[in-house]
Parts: sequence; structure tokens; C-alpha cells
Amino acid sequence: MGHIEPKLELSPKVSDEIRKTTCYMCACRCGIDVHLKDGKVAYIEGNRDHPVNRGVLCAKGSAGIMQHNAPSRLRAPLRRVGPRGSGEFEEISWDEALQTAVSWLKPIRETAPDKLAFFTGRDQSQSFTSFWAQNFGTPNYAAHGGFCSVNMAAAGIYTMGGAFWEFGQPDWERTKLFMLFGVAEDHDSNPIKMGLGRLKERGAKVIGVNPIRSGYNAVADEWVGITPGTDGLFILSLVHCLLKAGKIDLEYLTRFTNAPVLVNEDPQDPDYGLFLRDSAGKMLVIDRATGMPAKFDQAGIKPDLAHGYRRAGITHRPVFQLLAERYLSDDYAPEAIAERCGVTPERIRKIAAELARVAFDEAIEIDQPWTDFRGERHDKMIGRPVSFHAMRGISAHSNGFQTCRALHVLQILLGSVEVPGGFRFKPPYPKPMEAHPTPHCRSSPDTPLDGPHLGFVRGPEDLALKADGSPARIDKAFTWENPMSAHGLMHMVISNAHAGDPYKIDTLFMYMANMAWNSSMNTRGVIEMLTDTDDSGEYVIPRIIYSDAYSSEMVAYADLILPDTTYLERHDCISLLDRPICEAEAAADAIRWPVVEPDRDVRGFQSVLCDLGARLNLPGFVNADGSQKYADYADYIVNHERKPGIGPLMGFRGDGSDIGRGSPHPEQLERYVDNGGFCVSHIPQEAQFYKPWNMAYQDWAVNLGLFDSPQPYLFNLYVEPMRRFQRAAEGHGDRQPPEHLRARVQTTMDPLPIWYPPFEDDAVDTETFPVHALTQRPMAMYHSWGTQNAWLRQIHGHNPLFVPTGIWEANGFAEGDWARVTSAHGAITVPVAHMAALNEHTVWTWNAIGKRKGAWALDEDAPEATKGFLLNHLIHELMPPRGDGLRWSNSDPITGQAAWFDLRVRIEKVDAPTEAQPEFPPLTSPVGKGPGSLAWKVGR
Ligand code: SF4
Repeated sequence: MGHIEPKLELSPKVSDEIRKTTCYMCACRCGIDVHLKDGKVAYIEGNRDHPVNRGVLCAKGSAGIMQHNAPSRLRAPLRRVGPRGSGEFEEISWDEALQTAVSWLKPIRETAPDKLAFFTGRDQSQSFTSFWAQNFGTPNYAAHGGFCSVNMAAAGIYTMGGAFWEFGQPDWERTKLFMLFGVAEDHDSNPIKMGLGRLKERGAKVIGVNPIRSGYNAVADEWVGITPGTDGLFILSLVHCLLKAGKIDLEYLTRFTNAPVLVNEDPQDPDYGLFLRDSAGKMLVIDRATGMPAKFDQAGIKPDLAHGYRRAGITHRPVFQLLAERYLSDDYAPEAIAERCGVTPERIRKIAAELARVAFDEAIEIDQPWTDFRGERHDKMIGRPVSFHAMRGISAHSNGFQTCRALHVLQILLGSVEVPGGFRFKPPYPKPMEAHPTPHCRSSPDTPLDGPHLGFVRGPEDLALKADGSPARIDKAFTWENPMSAHGLMHMVISNAHAGDPYKIDTLFMYMANMAWNSSMNTRGVIEMLTDTDDSGEYVIPRIIYSDAYSSEMVAYADLILPDTTYLERHDCISLLDRPICEAEAAADAIRWPVVEPDRDVRGFQSVLCDLGARLNLPGFVNADGSQKYADYADYIVNHERKPGIGPLMGFRGDGSDIGRGSPHPEQLERYVDNGGFCVSHIPQEAQFYKPWNMAYQDWAVNLGLFDSPQPYLFNLYVEPMRRFQRAAEGHGDRQPPEHLRARVQTTMDPLPIWYPPFEDDAVDTETFPVHALTQRPMAMYHSWGTQNAWLRQIHGHNPLFVPTGIWEANGFAEGDWARVTSAHGAITVPVAHMAALNEHTVWTWNAIGKRKGAWALDEDAPEATKGFLLNHLIHELMPPRGDGLRWSNSDPITGQAAWFDLRVRIEKVDAPTEAQPEFPPLTSPVGKGPGSLAWKVGR
């Protein structure tokens, strides 16, 4: 008998159709090809043509299919029927939901718009949500930057007109030494991994500076296991070594930075510490050719770093001299700081020498002539092939802003910004602080706000204060407590609203922000604030509206739920007005579009805001006849113009062929879809480097609509606006800080980077709490979304507390043991694991793995809910009381960034409890539980 072969389909068709859109499994926004079979999502792969990922897809990206099908997806609008926190809701229609929202919001707008606090979390549409809030008229709007990485962003803008990640990237093709400081590995994920791959291929060296050797640090050639909160000291010691050795780029400093700008040196003069300017306000330098003051941008001048100038009996000296004097001090010598940083003096000197060697001995040249803003023609582009990247690890400290400034100053002293091999900006950056708005906060009934909420203050006159000096914003952003809080302080909104300080609000409206769990410091306290009632039995925060796609912990604490779609069911624009996806060589933007239709009664949040805006008669959302202006978010994306010819998307404008400027084109979204979901505009060769000073780049940026006129500027080694706040603290000017903050403003707002110990080191007894405690974001997760995802849960189902060898042995820990971890604020009991590649004074865990029972449609005995835990329970939004009884915010004093990583703890071995502590009672799930196994077959 012959063998009968079974009929097998050896090459099954993966899909009937591919739809190209943008991933939202993390914030990188890679291009994806979504394969559909029988109209259902069958498979996701990377888009090989996309500028961000060039086909690369990470674990999160491919697991998008499970996110899209997650059992935790909300299914319809919900109205709370049980007490807050019970999770008891009833489903209602969209019309009922929107009418309810209008009945709450309309009276507020007509009487006191500031009674609305509108804050968004992982929002990728901030230019739109802020536009809505501005039209509503409330000053109380921000996204989540205040508890994420505002120190990095603000320090970058104030210092050099851009920072890392969305602002810029290393010159991956040419850099020879790459230094990486603490990063969130779920952010800027594919681009950094791809970049590291390119460096490894070329044999470039990678140095990782992080208390924890995981992820990127694990593949670094050299790991510096620094003590948390001391990065600024380490960086300034590198600066000290470079200055001592004379290994700085004087030519670069002279031409492109404010190093030669003259500073008033007379303590008796009202302008002490401010720049010498001409009658038109232009900064002055000494021209080497004449020895006389000249405008910094005057054609033909050669600015002088060495000589000062006396005018009207007042001495002025170049910034460079002040800088050199400060950092040449022995206070910054490696021997003086090594012990505190946990890095030996020899190692610091060796790293400084290596930076200098690569920057100057391995300099590269590109034969590309270019013309600078003074009109001077240069034959070549000189490269210093040293580059840096940093993010949350150095910024989430109370000394984070100054630390981030220090890192940028180091880059600039090496002459390694916007040069071949160095760090390169991505459009619309570079963008100097002066090109950003100042914050606006004037709120009146039935009227839009007087301008954009967020911005960059130039001095005390720009603070968001009322006439009586009290904070205008609920989060107290842009006040003397944190003058440069460019992204607001989302982590203070609930506690301030609960305390009625600076005032009470009526409605808290939030989007994609899990404030009742992993996005808050002091989680239990926040839950109590959300559920607290006053003497009359009413909630202290009267109304809470929340929008999310999933049944997160926060859902249970809202009164009205507006269910969002998943990222495959919606329109979005990744806009140059917002958080763009550009590359150093090109401007780029992208869209999301509904590659599948929702199978539930949910709506994209931005479309809901278009509807709500029209129902509330907000000026930007209604036509002259009062009809709804934008049918939905797609309509807004195509037809909204921020100014004539400039809209959310740069591509396919006008007749469909214009890029950048042009009238709205009705088929713009279709053209994006046809083009793979994105649009790219390449920067001409001559404009590729030296962008802040290169007239070819400036002209290209104007043509594209990034600026209305060229905006060349100098990098700020010395940040004059900070000095203006110091002057106020010294008693000058009409706007004065309150007495209890005067000394702090004077100390912390130093215009040259400084280092001071993290505030918690002073606030607690460090002998009682000798250990630093950190969280890290795993590459395989994105915030709390990842641990509900059926595939990603298999990578990180729970999170032990990682303990270094010394502490492990001192406590007699063995695998499987548990520990109680205690801070000045609270205690947790959690499983431990040994990790040798860890700073000896530091313990850490993965962030946002722990879940509350009943949330995210998980089983109550899911490992995320029984062994997973949050470090948040140990952190408070306020510091412990000081001697004078005051409690300062646990934030950076300059920007208000949440100081998550200042945490100090002690650790002791305890008997294993049945579950991680503290335990919270289960929530009632509005979506029930997911099935025991999640499997389906798409197509036949
Ligand atoms: S890096 Fe982020 S955006 Fe890119 S594929 Fe992974 S999850 Fe998606």
C-alpha cells in the first residue's frame, strides 16, 4: 500500500490585506503593518519603510494583537452606581454620558472655568487636548511630563534648545563613544536598540552609568554603578578634569555658546549677574579684533573668552571665566566626590581622559561647506564623535534639573552637539527657549484662556500667580515652589484639589492616567483623597470624569467613564506641533487610522472632545452658526489650522503635493494611508549639522513652517532667566518669593549647574534609612498596560525586589525569601532576589507590574496581584515635616518634577506572608474577568 500524505497547506496566507499604521504599545511610535484576515487582526510586523523603526518590531509591538483583544477593554460608557472605589457601574448611552458631562462642565465654564482640572496621562495628542482646555478657559491643564522627565526636557530647552529622545539622537553612524545615563527602557525603545546595534557593529564604545546593570547597561562595554542622585556631581567632576586638562572645544564655545557673553560682576548693581546688552537688548561680547563690545551676532566678529570689560565703573566678565572658576575648584576634583558617587577617582579621571581622547584625537571632518548666522562661510564640518543619552534616571530627583543641565554643559564643552559624531537635534528642534510661549493662566467666565497653558518662563514676571500672589493653577506650576515647571505637576493635582490648596475644584477630568495606582506617589493616600467626603457627605473632589480604553484601577474612582478605543481602532496624528517622530536627517510625522472598527460602544477620546467642545459651545469647536466644527478627530486633523497654512500634519497639504505649509487638503488622511501612514521631508545636505547656527537649516525650517523667521541662537552655558529668579530672591523687583522659599530659590536657581544632595537625604535620618530604592521600566512593558497583556505577562508576571550582594548576605537572604522594606512614609513586604550587578547601597524593582485585584480583568490570584507590588506605597508627594513644621513637595524645586528616585529605605528579612503587602480589597470589575485561556484562530 502506498503512503497517503495528509493534505497540508504548506504556505498559508498570513493575511488578506495589510494596513499600515503606527504602533502605540509604547511611546516610540514605530510604523507597523497590520495583517488582516477575514477582517480581523491576524499578525503585526514592522513597517520596513518607516523612518523610526525600519521594519524592527519589539516584543511589545508584536503583542499589540493581545492589547487590541484584551478582556479588560471597556465596552460602553459607565455611570457610577456604588460608592467611589467600589467599581460598581451601570452602562449608559453615549448621549446620556455626554449630556451628564455637559451638565457638569457647562455651569463651571459659565462661572469659574478654573473649577475644571483637565489632566492627561499617556496622551499623544497634547497639542489637541491643550487646545480644548484653552478653549474651555481653565488654567488647569497639563499632561504627565511633570512626573515623567520634565527635568530632562526643560533643562535641555533652557540650555541648548532641545534634549534627548524626541528632541534629538546620537549620530549613530559616526559616534565612537556613547555614554548612556539612566533611562526608561520602555521609552525610546526600538530606536536606542537599533542605534546600539549599529555602534556594536562598528566597534564603538558604550559606557552605561546607572546604579543597576540591566538592559542597555548589560550590553555596555563599561558599566558605572553610580550611587543614585549623584550623577550631577560625577558629571561636574568630569567637567573639572576636562577643564584642568584644557580639553574643551574653545572654538566651538566662542562661536556657538554664550561663553563669551559679558556678565555684570558688581554685587551693588541692580543688574548683577545679568548679561550686558545694547539698547536693543542684544547680548554683548568683546570682539577680539577691536577689543570693544559688539553684538553677539554681528557679522565678522571674533568673540573673546579671555577679556572682560568695564563700563560706567562696572566690571563685566565673560561667562566662560565664571564657569572655569567654578568647576576648576577642588570641590569638583574626583578625590572630593568619589566616595559620595560610589565611583573611584581613577575611574572618573579615566572616563574624562577617554572623552577627551575620542572628542579631540579622533575628530572627524566632513567636506561640506556651510554658512553660519554671522554670515561666515566654513569649508568643513568638524565632528567630535562623542555622544550622550539620558532620561528619567538622572531627572527624577530633586536635584534633577541641575543634573540634566550639567550633562548638557558637558556635551557643549566637548563641542559635541550638532556636529558629526555627536548629538543631533530632530526637527522641530533645535528651538530656543525664546521661540516657546510663556505660560498663560488668566481665566474668565465663558472665555478661552488668554494663551497656551504651558511654556518657558523668562523671569518672575511670567509666573502663574494671581494678583494676590497665590497660585493660579491647581498644581501650583510656575510658582515660587517650582518656577520652571514647563510640563505642570500632575502628581500634585489630586492632593491639592483634596486640600483645597490653592483652591477647591468642582470636576477632575483625566485621560489615560492611572492615578489610583501606579501613577501616584502615596497610592493609598490618593485613594483616600479620591473617596473622602466632607461634613455634608459629599465627595471632597465633587466630580471625576475619566477616559481610558481599559479597566484600570483608576476607573473605579471615577463617576463617569468615557471608554476610549484601542490604538488600532482610532485616528491619531503624531504631529510636528506635538511630540514628533522626526529623525536627525528629516522631519517626519504620521497617523493612526482605524485599521479595524470597534466591536464595542466606544469612541476615540479626541473625537469625544470634538463633540463635547461643540455641546459646550467652545469657540474653537463651533462654527459661526453654532454648529459642530469638527465631526470627529479625523476632521480636526485635516481641517484645523494652528495658523494659516499650518495644521496638525505637514504632509499632502494644498493641492496634495505641499509639505509643511499649505491649505487643508480634503484627502490628506487617504494620502497618508497610501504612503504607509507617514510623511517624511529630508533636510538638505548642507543643513544636516550645526542646525542652530546653520542658515541653510534655518531657511529650510522656515520653508517647512517650523518657524516664521530664522531663529539662530547661542547655547546657554549660563541660563540668565535663572539668575532673574535669584535676583528676586535677593530682594530685587516687584514679584518677590515668600520668605520661606527665598533661600531655596537663591540656592537652587543657580545659572551655572550645581549639585546638592537629594532633598530626602536631608529630610530623613540616613542611618535609619541607609538604602536607596529605585524602579526601572522594563523594555517589554509600557506603564501599566503591559502586565495585562496575555503575551507580555509571560515575560514579567511579577517583580521581585532586587538586592545587592552586601545587603543580601548581611540579612542572610536566600532565594524565595521575603523582606519588609520601610521608608519614612510606609512599609511593604515583598519577595526578594539577589543581583550582583547593582550599586551596593541600592535595591530596585520593575515598575508598574503589581496590579490591584479586580482591575484589568485579571484573576484575583494572578501573580501580578499576589506577588507583584508597587514601590509607590513607600513614596509620598510631600517630604516629611521640617523643623519649622512645613512639608515641601517631593519634587525638583525648579521644575516640580516628581522626585521618585530620591527614596531612602531600610530592609529586613521577614517570614513570607501569603501575599505581598499592603493588600488592598478587590475592586468590582466593570468588565468581569478574562477567560482562562485566550486563543482564537483568524481565518480558516
Ligand atoms: S518600540 Fe514601541 S512603538 Fe516600537 S514596536 Fe516596540 S512597542 Fe511599538
